[in-house]
Amino acid sequence: MATNRTFTMIKPDAVGNNYIGGILKMINEAGFRIVSMKYTRLSKESAGEFYAVHSARPFYGELVDYMSSGSIVAAILEKENAVADFRNLIGATDPTKAEEGTIRKIYAKSIAANAVHGSDSDENAAIEGDFFFSKLERF
Ligand code: GDP
Repeated sequence: MATNRTFTMIKPDAVGNNYIGGILKMINEAGFRIVSMKYTRLSKESAGEFYAVHSARPFYGELVDYMSSGSIVAAILEKENAVADFRNLIGATDPTKAEEGTIRKIYAKSIAANAVHGSDSDENAAIEGDFFFSKLERF
């Protein structure tokens, strides 16, 4: 069932470069409502748990190290067709392949440090939102 919600993180490279404001502005201007938001930092253990689905991929260790290297902003976003529309707004995983005007094209440094996360399905959006936010925070 489509929930009209997705989950995002502004990743350590974008937070470190002071891109939080610019990225949130693009998110709001694209019509997403911020349901829940948190400025925090992942431990290695929690980054490993969040990305457990990628544990067989060759870059898993690098990804976990990177995602626990600095502060992040986690948020649940709401909009009709949220998952697909947000994937379009952020652009391709590799910023060199991302379309002009997308968040990754504008703000990402590399395929690893690619500025933002966006859920790839309604099911994962719910799992990822639950990872960061309690039921009370997901009003
Ligand atoms: P996404 O859904 O566009 O975020 O991409 P994936 O689900 O394929 O990968 C998850 C995350 O792993 C990406 O957002 C990147 O941060 C990281 N990643 C993907 N490919 C690579 C890679 O080749 N090298 C490294 N170091 N990280 C990668």
